Amino acid sequence: MIEHSTDILVIGGGAAGMSAALAASESKGLRVTIVDDNPRLGGQIWRAELGKSKSSEADRLISAITSGKFSILNGTQIFGTANDGSLLGVVRDETIKLHYNKLILATGAREHFLPFPGWTSPRVFGAGGLQALVKGGFNVSGKRILVAGTGPLLLVVAEYLKQKGAKVVAIAEQASASKINRFALGLWRYPTKIAQGLELRSSLGGIPYLKDCWVTAAKCKSPRVSKGETSDMRVSPSLTHGLSHGYSKSTKEALSVMLTQKGRSWSIECDYLAVGFHLVPNTELAVVLGCSIGDGFVLVDKLQRTSKHNIFAVGEPTGIGGVEASLIEGRIAGYAAAGETRKAESLFVKRDRTSRFADSLNSTFALRDELKTLADATTTVCRCEDVSYASLCEFSNAREAKLQTRCGMGPCQGRVCGPATEFLFGWQPGSVRQPIFPVKLETL
Ligand SMILES: Cc1cc2nc3c(=O)[nH]c(=O)nc-3n(C[C@H](O)[C@H](O)[C@H](O)COP(=O)(O)OP(=O)(O)OC[C@H]3O[C@@H](n4cnc5c(N)ncnc54)[C@H](O)[C@@H]3O)c2cc1C
Repeated sequence: MIEHSTDILVIGGGAAGMSAALAASESKGLRVTIVDDNPRLGGQIWRAELGKSKSSEADRLISAITSGKFSILNGTQIFGTANDGSLLGVVRDETIKLHYNKLILATGAREHFLPFPGWTSPRVFGAGGLQALVKGGFNVSGKRILVAGTGPLLLVVAEYLKQKGAKVVAIAEQASASKINRFALGLWRYPTKIAQGLELRSSLGGIPYLKDCWVTAAKCKSPRVSKGETSDMRVSPSLTHGLSHGYSKSTKEALSVMLTQKGRSWSIECDYLAVGFHLVPNTELAVVLGCSIGDGFVLVDKLQRTSKHNIFAVGEPTGIGGVEASLIEGRIAGYAAAGETRKAESLFVKRDRTSRFADSLNSTFALRDELKTLADATTTVCRCEDVSYASLCEFSNAREAKLQTRCGMGPCQGRVCGPATEFLFGWQPGSVRQPIFPVKLETL
């Protein structure tokens, strides 16, 4: 077993974790270590693209990382805690034990998926998931992609896919036009967001942004997604200049996606569907460490301290707030953990602004009740264990359903179906146990 000791240990190398590690490492004499399960730091936004960023904040973080101010343990997944309070992880099949004085949890978020008929088809991806695949080398050039679901991530993904040569046929946003317009009107309080919004708008020009609109079903016509697939699966003529309401006659595309908007329904033919319903915080590690959770998020005070002594939490686990919130919270926790309380306090005003922005974002893109009715009896809800919607309907809570159907007992350990059943049935998530990720017996 490998052993590693540090003063400040940061779990998660995304925007929040990198920012925390950098702030903490400003204090001379403190050993700071950052751990991430990916081969490189960067988190969801900058993964695989460090060095190519447009953002000055990313550049600052990236140059700090390469300056060797703190230790980096990449490819290291933390799965639990040992009896002495240290953390346990696995790196290249070896167990690693991490000892620390202060711990900063920056474990980020994952996508929220909702079941609808066809959501498990091979050509249906998570929106952020498809973006991550493309960042990893998956070629979407010439592919016709429908982006759907909810939240600003859809716009970011659509822009990215377009940049990579995909033809984004439309963005279907379930939030209502009135909510989105109200949100846009409130942006005057956040000038940087206006600038970002205008930039996105100009780069997405020509792509229909359909509000009050969501996917009701997807049907794969040619289920195999092969590496050598060419882009000659052409556009249905009715869609060449945007969307037409009414069934497209083309049969050449691989996926038929049914959409609904204000009582009208129609289908779109495309190569891929990228769909995501906002984000779910990764709180599992905080839960096994005993940190208090409220409304699904890790509870923190102004200095980002959790209810557990010497444990801080930052970024998405404390509230879905976007990259700016993650960066500021990371700095606050990094300074606070290093004992630089004054520096941390000087950032409170900025952090409170990002929190207000996050609140309005989350209320704008809250999921509408109609989405609870998308799944039919045969729709898979737990894809790890093949559990259908109908087989869950007879239970009244997640625990009963888990014991009787194995829903949530597969490799993802309920990370996908847990938030889905919470939304569909109102079930509280079941308890979190170690190891929080599947590990080999010999690792334990
Ligand atoms: C799939 C996806 C794609 C996204 N793409 C964008 C985008 O392009 N642009 C944008 O503005 N926002 C994007 N977001 C939102 C973005 O993640 C947030 O706005 C914010 O940047 C989150 O920063 P973070 O540091 O809190 O989390 P993250 O960036 O998620 O970083 C958390 C890191 O912690 C690691 N981690 C978690 N648990 C463990 C563990 N137990 N052991 C070791 N490592 C662990 C994760 O692998 C990850 O690298 C995306 C979100 C998701 C889920």
